[in-house]
Amino acid sequence: MCDRRAARLMEQKVMERKLIRGVGVASSRIGLGTWSIGGWMWGGSDDAEAVKTIRTALDRGITLIDTAPAYGFGRSEELVGQAVAEQGGRERVLIATKAGLGWHAGAVYRDASAVRIRTEIEDSLRRLGTSYIDIYQVHWPDPLVPVEETAAQLGRLFERGTIRAIGVSNFSPEQMETFRAVAPLHVVQSPYNLFERAIETGVLPYAWRRGLTVLAYGALCRGLLSGRMRRDTRFLGDDLRQTDPKFQPRRYGQYLAAVAALDRLAHERYGKSVLALAIRFILDQGPTIALWGARRPDQLAPIDDVLGWRLDDETRATIDRLLAELVTDPVGPEFMAPPARETADRGPVALRS
Ligand code: NAP
Repeated sequence: MCDRRAARLMEQKVMERKLIRGVGVASSRIGLGTWSIGGWMWGGSDDAEAVKTIRTALDRGITLIDTAPAYGFGRSEELVGQAVAEQGGRERVLIATKAGLGWHAGAVYRDASAVRIRTEIEDSLRRLGTSYIDIYQVHWPDPLVPVEETAAQLGRLFERGTIRAIGVSNFSPEQMETFRAVAPLHVVQSPYNLFERAIETGVLPYAWRRGLTVLAYGALCRGLLSGRMRRDTRFLGDDLRQTDPKFQPRRYGQYLAAVAALDRLAHERYGKSVLALAIRFILDQGPTIALWGARRPDQLAPIDDVLGWRLDDETRATIDRLLAELVTDPVGPEFMAPPARETADRGPVALRS
């Protein structure tokens, strides 16, 4: 190891960890999200930067990488596979990927049928260059396929050892109960950040009760909570923030005002940035791992600011008061939900992930 890298490792804060049932090993409490790395719906991406970002994440103590076939229609999984191979030590990385979204002509649609998952797992293993997946998640519930069918297929892959833990994403507690009657369930991946708190009244208490790990996605609310956004920030190409309702004029002003107030609060109380406050908030909420989407190595520079402290109750109450005052017209992440097929044998109807 070169001297500079060794010195940097000595200075780094210790990564917090959490055991994920099923996988049976501890994961870093920050996971790298790689949707933007796939380019699609994020205005494109740079492959070399993407690989460097994944390798930086691993260097910085992140051990969980979340991807999906739909992210760049296979590209994100390929880049994760390439970065992990270049880094070496596959066994030290937890790869979380997904199944249950198909795509056609640039449009995705839900298909969580057993027959599709049987093909998808082979494609994901090939793209990732691995013989097993650590966490395999159903990307979205499919209204045209019984939850029991999807669960039984993941159960078979689990029993064979092809996957080490089973997850669902965007599922309600009721859908998870149905799933658990057929196969074990270890992880739930849901939208969760300071501005998108719906899981606090359903999924989060359910996860506590059932011993599930929550992978909180959109930890920075698609970059809004990074503190980088300004009124005149523009998004290029197919970037989803062009249509994200939080980024549209009237609401965007409310959210930017809230980010500014949270940033002041974080500096006054802890000497931290709003980004650190946002990730710390997620980690303090229970059995959570924050999925932090990044596409350039420098975006991971603030990792240390997140570690080794906690939000106190008074600050949490102040956050709630500020948000209620400043975001008078809140909106959730529902715009991201992909369409169902019109019928079980039909393809896509719109463009979403
Ligand atoms: P996110 O983590 O809330 O935001 C990611 C974006 O924030 C980055 O692409 C980057 O955008 C910006 N950013 C990150 N670090 C920054 C920094 N230090 N300074 C300034 N900007 C910074 O959103 P996300 O990627 O949608 O969510 C995280 C992960 O969750 C995804 O990658 C994916 O793995 C998962 N996810 C899952 C689902 C699901 O249905 N299961 C849905 C959504 C996401 P720019 O570079 O463009 O500014």
